[in-house]
Amino acid sequence: MQRLIVIGGGAAGSAVVGEFLRRGQPGEFELTWLVGRQAPGRGVAYSTTAEHHLLNVRAANMGLFADDAGGFIAYAQAQGWPVKGLDFVPRAWYGNYLEAVLAREISAARVRGLALRVLSVDAASVRGSDANGYVVGTAEGEEFDADGVVLAIGALPAAPLAEVTEAARGSHAYAADPWHWPLPRKAPERVVVLGTGLTAVDALQSASRLWPNAQLTAISRHGQLPRQHNAAPGQPYEHQASLLEALRAQPRVAHWLREIRAAMQDEGAEWRSVIDGLRAETQALWRSLGVNERARFQRHLRWLWESARHRLPQQTANELARLRTQGRLKILAAHIRSIDQHAGERDQLEVRVQPRGAESVRSFAADLVIQATGFNISVNATDHALIRQMVDEGVAHADALDLGLAADADGRLLRADGVPRHGLRSLGTLLRGSVWECSGLPEIRALAKTIACELPAELRRVAKPAHSRSSASTRAATFTPAVI
Ligand SMILES: Cc1cc2nc3c(=O)[nH]c(=O)nc-3n(C[C@H](O)[C@H](O)[C@H](O)COP(=O)(O)OP(=O)(O)OC[C@H]3O[C@@H](n4cnc5c(N)ncnc54)[C@H](O)[C@@H]3O)c2cc1C
Repeated sequence: MQRLIVIGGGAAGSAVVGEFLRRGQPGEFELTWLVGRQAPGRGVAYSTTAEHHLLNVRAANMGLFADDAGGFIAYAQAQGWPVKGLDFVPRAWYGNYLEAVLAREISAARVRGLALRVLSVDAASVRGSDANGYVVGTAEGEEFDADGVVLAIGALPAAPLAEVTEAARGSHAYAADPWHWPLPRKAPERVVVLGTGLTAVDALQSASRLWPNAQLTAISRHGQLPRQHNAAPGQPYEHQASLLEALRAQPRVAHWLREIRAAMQDEGAEWRSVIDGLRAETQALWRSLGVNERARFQRHLRWLWESARHRLPQQTANELARLRTQGRLKILAAHIRSIDQHAGERDQLEVRVQPRGAESVRSFAADLVIQATGFNISVNATDHALIRQMVDEGVAHADALDLGLAADADGRLLRADGVPRHGLRSLGTLLRGSVWECSGLPEIRALAKTIACELPAELRRVAKPAHSRSSASTRAATFTPAVI
């Protein structure tokens, strides 16, 4: 029997575990799911309870499984929720769906006699074993043998920006983690959000509700909020195939920018359709770029791509426009130069910025600064215990630009020599540098299916020494009880 371990209890872990359960036969594998400290299912994005935090993908395309893209809308309508397929619904509703799907798949698997344990522990290490498999250690010192391991741990914990001084980091006025802010002792009058992407928008919406009198400022290098979705998707771009051909023919970002811009300006073309039409090919296009071109994209074009690709629902865009018209929200295009404690004021920070195109630096005071600069994916610098151990011991590596883990298109982690490791895969945001697009549910569920289909067959191809089979049961005697 194969021993499989999935690490991470968010939507990606749920998709992989669900796929294994849907496909598995009794006696084929023993699946252990290490979900970390949170209840399995929701992860970071869908743990919010705020009704104003909306999905940025239409309900019709948010099913958890690749062969059931409409699963969420079907579930929502069966519950009698007032949802149509084109709607952007609260992420909290989606979290309810994830929990319900998991409960359904787990109980069906139990009835069919599949072996599953769900443990509320953090994995702290993954090491190769001498039997062609892995040993996964937990923070509590337990060890589990595995033939195959899947990492689904989301992004890395937020790390404060280098421009933030120690004193500012230690104060109550700086929140490095955009999902968990310290609530200041008194309502802040000036809130600064670092970043203008989707995470920053979440923070701005919440701050504007919590503190209706606060002045909000969001700062990023280009000062661009995400573009907005249309009420309904436009017609597909008629020349999409020739656009793709042109991009594939010359994998250089300057050329791509020219081609994509021209297509977006094509008479009769809806620019959103041009961008959306690239989505299915984004991973292959990214992989066709050399390292220097990837770096160029990251430096010069990422902000433009992100604001066009990760769009806001109209309700959210309208809300931000209202805040700006009321003068409550300012968007600033500037480089952060430093964030320090304000002289003599323990809970006040001084933010120094250089506005885009200006020579001089200006500074202003803030009662709360929320860092919402996007996912942390730097595996070389992280203090995430598991990734630290795996990178330090050479079990996993950063991709060439340190934008996550080095992996192939099917999530196989690569050895230092670039050869895929046997039986060790990953999916989700940490594949940014390897495939670029793997944070949204559509890409996550596609890779979850690939892994669940391929991994058991891959493991069957390697014969195990007979002695290696007994160690699982020896260690299994020390397992903590399952949470489900
Ligand atoms: C604010 C926000 C909104 C989003 N909205 C959308 C949307 O509308 N549509 C869409 O398609 N995508 C959206 N996304 C993208 C989102 O990243 C994915 O949809 C999905 O939620 C990612 O899930 P994940 O499991 O990869 O990561 P996470 O949700 O981060 O889950 C990872 C889990 O792994 C656990 N973990 C970490 N380390 C360990 C360890 N060592 N051992 C055990 N467990 C560990 C963590 O505690 C966490 O529970 C959004 C993302 C964010 C942040």
